[in-house]
Amino acid sequence: TRRFDVVIAGGGAAGISTAASLLKRRPGTTVAIIDPANEHYYQPGWTLVGAGVFTPEQTRRTEVSVIPKAANWIRETVTGFDPDHRQVLLGDGSSVEYSVLVVALGLKLDWNGIEGLAETLGKNGVTSNYRYDLAPYTWKLVQELRQGTALFTQPPMPIKCAGAPQKAMYLSCDEWTRRGVKGAIEVEFDTCTPGLFGVADYVPALMEYIRRYNIALHTKSRLVKVDGAKRIATFERTSDTGTTIIERAFDMLHVVPPQTAPDVVRESVLAGDGGWVSVDPATLRHTRYDDVFALGDVAGTSNAKTAAAVRKQAPVVAENVVATLGARAVNAIYDGYGACPLTVEKGRIVLAEFAYGGKLMPSFPKWLLDGTKPTRLAWFLKEKVMPPLYWLGMLRGHELMVKPGHKKAD
Ligand code: FAD
Repeated sequence: TRRFDVVIAGGGAAGISTAASLLKRRPGTTVAIIDPANEHYYQPGWTLVGAGVFTPEQTRRTEVSVIPKAANWIRETVTGFDPDHRQVLLGDGSSVEYSVLVVALGLKLDWNGIEGLAETLGKNGVTSNYRYDLAPYTWKLVQELRQGTALFTQPPMPIKCAGAPQKAMYLSCDEWTRRGVKGAIEVEFDTCTPGLFGVADYVPALMEYIRRYNIALHTKSRLVKVDGAKRIATFERTSDTGTTIIERAFDMLHVVPPQTAPDVVRESVLAGDGGWVSVDPATLRHTRYDDVFALGDVAGTSNAKTAAAVRKQAPVVAENVVATLGARAVNAIYDGYGACPLTVEKGRIVLAEFAYGGKLMPSFPKWLLDGTKPTRLAWFLKEKVMPPLYWLGMLRGHELMVKPGHKKAD
């Protein structure tokens, strides 16, 4: 059995950022990153792939190119956790031992959670920006559609980047408006949530666009079935008077699938509510195992599941891992920051930034960038600043504008 100071399960946004940050803080630490994937994706870019702004290739790098030089990459699948023996079990039947474990496996997109969906994805007008290979199909459908009905759906929370289902819709509507065909296309948003967005401050600006694009908004409406060949989507809509089943014919259907914790986490002793890793929301340390941390989408915290959250979480986990290795108390704390750049039209974004409890956390003074209004500056950040900030800053452990908070010494 191989042994490392720190084992990181998952080499996505969270795993790589944490490894890089940790190795900067404590050079010489032996770190293993376990991930079978050959590619690493900048998923926030997929919204712009679906709108023809980015090419798919701009959102993809080889995994080997993002693994920190001083870390060991174990190209295997994590198949189990045995925290009582400080072991992680791998797909090839072997196991690795750790002093500290960081769980960063992301979440599972449950494409089979909607009847008939999996077999029709990528054809019959059915698409999703939540998959690298399908985001270009979204853009193809948008360009081809001249008339008819376009449906956009959002599953129950929690999901990663809760704004992404409506971002795809606004950017599609913008394109149809520019081409002069919007009047002939009926657009409908079906979301399981009771409102358009979880933080009330951003809703007025978004409602403005719902009106401008003449979108039929249905809350508490759940996509339950897709018949690709017949192009019919079935929804379950809940109201005070009960539940009704509604069938809608479509020409284009953009689906966001239900999302859960990965099976290997849900079925492990590390799982808490809903199957997510049970951690302290501030220190991100496991609630029962002192030598286990979790961050990113897999963590059972109430922040917005975003790469923006990971940017703030990684230094906190890195610092607390270093403290744990040195048998010191963990005192770096995460405030729940997350961000969701809502692309309301090509060139403008409503930049939602908020922490635990929906508390607004703007990065900029209001006179420069008011996140509750659509701004060109926020689009500029999304298109030109965030991708290099991700590849060259966050994934390499450069913590620009990120200072973890600290608990008072106990
Ligand atoms: P991931 O980056 O998904 O990484 C998980 C890693 O774990 C993967 O590399 C995977 O291969 C690996 N893995 C999985 N299972 C196993 C296993 N059993 N064993 C070993 N390895 C495994 N965020 C923003 O901040 N802003 C945005 O605008 C934004 N827009 C988005 C739009 C879309 C369409 C999508 C899909 C996401 C968006 N996000 C956005 C969310 C952001 O991409 C995620 O929150 C972020 O990637 C989470 O990082 P993570 O490391 O937790 O998970």
